Amino acid sequence: MNDIRIKVLLIDDDRVDQMAFKRLVRDENLSYDYAIAGSVSEATTVLNSRQFDVVIADYFLGDGTAFDLFDLIIDTPIIFVTGGGDEETAVRAMKAGAYDYIIKDQERNYLKMLQITVENAIRHKKAEDQFRMLSHAIMSIHDSVFITNMEEETIFVNHAFCTTYQYHEEEVLGKPIDILWKDGSDRSESSRILKLATKTGWEGEVYHRRKDGSVFPVSLSTSIIKDSNGNGIAVVSVARDITERKRAEEELKKAKEATETSNKELTLAVERANIMAVEAELANKTKSEFLANVSHEIRTPMNGIIGMTDLALETELNPDQREYLEAVQYSANSLLNLINDILDFSKIEAGKLDIECIDFNLNECLDNVLQPMRLRAKEKGLKLTSHLDSVVPDGLVGDPMRLRQILINLVSNAVKFTESGQVAIQIEAESITEKDAVLHFIVSDTGIGIPPRLQGTIFEAFTQADGTTTRKYGGTGLGLAISSRLVAMMGGRIWVESPLSEYKGETFGPGSRFHFTAKLRLQNQCSGTADSSFTGTEHDFTEIGDRVRDVKDKESKTTEEPVYPLRSPLKILLAEDNAINCKLTKSILHKKGWQVVTASTGKEVLHLLDSEMFDLILMDVQMPEMDGYEATAVIREREKSTRTHIPIIALTAHAMSRDKERCLKIGMDAYVSKPMKAAELYGAIARLMHEEELSEPGETAEKTELIDLSRAMEAVDGDKGLLRSLVDDFLEDYPQHLEELEGLIAKNDSAQVERKAHSLKGSIGNFGVGKAYELAYQIETLGKESRLEGAEDVLKKLEEQMNRIKAFFSLPGWDKNL
Ligand code: ADP
Repeated sequence: MNDIRIKVLLIDDDRVDQMAFKRLVRDENLSYDYAIAGSVSEATTVLNSRQFDVVIADYFLGDGTAFDLFDLIIDTPIIFVTGGGDEETAVRAMKAGAYDYIIKDQERNYLKMLQITVENAIRHKKAEDQFRMLSHAIMSIHDSVFITNMEEETIFVNHAFCTTYQYHEEEVLGKPIDILWKDGSDRSESSRILKLATKTGWEGEVYHRRKDGSVFPVSLSTSIIKDSNGNGIAVVSVARDITERKRAEEELKKAKEATETSNKELTLAVERANIMAVEAELANKTKSEFLANVSHEIRTPMNGIIGMTDLALETELNPDQREYLEAVQYSANSLLNLINDILDFSKIEAGKLDIECIDFNLNECLDNVLQPMRLRAKEKGLKLTSHLDSVVPDGLVGDPMRLRQILINLVSNAVKFTESGQVAIQIEAESITEKDAVLHFIVSDTGIGIPPRLQGTIFEAFTQADGTTTRKYGGTGLGLAISSRLVAMMGGRIWVESPLSEYKGETFGPGSRFHFTAKLRLQNQCSGTADSSFTGTEHDFTEIGDRVRDVKDKESKTTEEPVYPLRSPLKILLAEDNAINCKLTKSILHKKGWQVVTASTGKEVLHLLDSEMFDLILMDVQMPEMDGYEATAVIREREKSTRTHIPIIALTAHAMSRDKERCLKIGMDAYVSKPMKAAELYGAIARLMHEEELSEPGETAEKTELIDLSRAMEAVDGDKGLLRSLVDDFLEDYPQHLEELEGLIAKNDSAQVERKAHSLKGSIGNFGVGKAYELAYQIETLGKESRLEGAEDVLKKLEEQMNRIKAFFSLPGWDKNL
């Protein structure tokens, strides 16, 4: 208080008293900042212009009394000063609002009292201000505040309380507090809380009741008010309506529950999706299995239809019959194409289509594309050209069948959708490295073209540029979808343009120009050096009709006739359970003059092999009782002890590449898929029976002959009996010779190898100087030069040759033509 100067106004008309006041302030060093007014009017002026902490007012003033100023002095404590014996006036002043009064005495001792009274007044004023501020605060806060005495009667409530609980102040003051409780009679709960509050205070959530009986949740906080002796005198409670919070909490809980439920549902959905994905994968697998099976079922009768039609067309027919059969042939081939497309597409979708990686020649592949297309182009009067850029390498590694499939699809579309003008194939090199080349293929036509808006969608499955073209041109809408996927598998891309084009000075179009790229490895021996590995050819086929025929004839020779004619009539074991297909295959084989024995189950095959010798088995893979796979496995197992190997060609309508793999893995030597063309079957047989010769194309025909019977006859001077007995001895002895040779090679006994090989060569020489003779001579030389490292491989080849010789001599009637 000392630091702050108290603002005091003294109102007194007595100049001596004024002097005495000034002296008091000075002598006592009071920190008063005072003003003195000697009349009502002077005081009025000062009070209107300044604020004071305390006013000391003498009763009698020259122009009135202190009472005249009371209305002006609001909120400032007044110390009323009056003369002795005038206590009545003092009482009046107190009633009018004075804080205290002082009676003047002659000796002016009252001045000492004045100092204390001023201090008290200031303190009182401060406390009053604080109280007012507090009660104002309590009154105006949003929480309900109520104070109860120790008898649990309400002694204070704020505005928020009245609003929240719907009571007027006077309705609750002096009343027991339990009217607020949810159940009016539940005094025990309120008492319990109050008791706790009087000790430690209490905080928690309860339910309170409004005047209208409605109940609401409240967050309650109570604490005890104590007097200066530490005795509890009241309990103050602060209550907050938490209806909103509760609702929010409830909503949060519900939201949480909902989240948990949806989380659970999500987890379930994910689990379900996983199951569905597994099921879908299974279904996809099943679908592709199903398609493979269906295709097998369709291909089997198709084999009969196409094959029998081909055979019938080779017989003498009247023109009508020929026309009908050609129609059957055309329809059957269309149906087969469709099945192949669907199967291809489903294989790609199921991720089951593999791209092969084999050596091939681009020129040959291109010829294989052009060959079937020429006639169709010619029929429509279209020019069909092809151009291979000179830098395009010819010897490539990739999948020629799939490359051909893409090109055939694009070229046949081009021919289909073009009425006049030309179709051109162009092959350029986009880039060439030491190892591979990215080739750019362009198939362009002068046909109906494709509107820009459809150029993107035609590569999708079952999409055709225009519904009406379907009816006019036919098709499934699968060709481009398959092509685009195959191109992607070859590391390339496919796209189309539809520009105007010019041909022979005429403008066509818009026309179509299909582009695709493919990345292909270069063959080792051709890696960018030899000129022969690069192509650069130009063909123009349909203009010269005769040439078309020439080329066709030449090609039909290469496919239908084996390049290496078979030396001896073959005896073939045909295993096929389908009666029509059996008849068909038999007819095809008979046409070559081959002898055919049939079996309809794997067991029958084994049975027949026990009693007869065959050069070859054509094995249908699907047969009752014992299928072709099982039968082959048994045959190969048995051959381990006899050291023989009978060639087996699988005949199957299964079109999946893994079926092919399975056939070869189980020990079959080749594979012909149904519906089979006679040419394909002849080709496979020819290739297989002359495998060795084909692998050594540089040799002379004479050298590649298995046996030279005329030379053999010469050797025995025409003595057939001698030859027969020589043959018998030979057949009996040679396995022993081979075994001994194998042992000697293993022991690295060069001298003995040389001797044994020389003697074997001599026995072989009796029957001619075929491949076997050559191989025996090779082993002899290796022995002579003590270089036996490669001898084992040569011995294996020799063994195969010997088995063939054995097979030849085992055929009944081998000596018929001697
Ligand atoms: P489709 O078996 O119907 O020919 P494709 O997938 O091969 O199936 O072709 C899809 C569609 O693309 C065709 O139906 C045709 O509308 C359009 N199309 C393809 N090639 C050509 C082309 N050279 N000229 C005009 N339209 C073409």
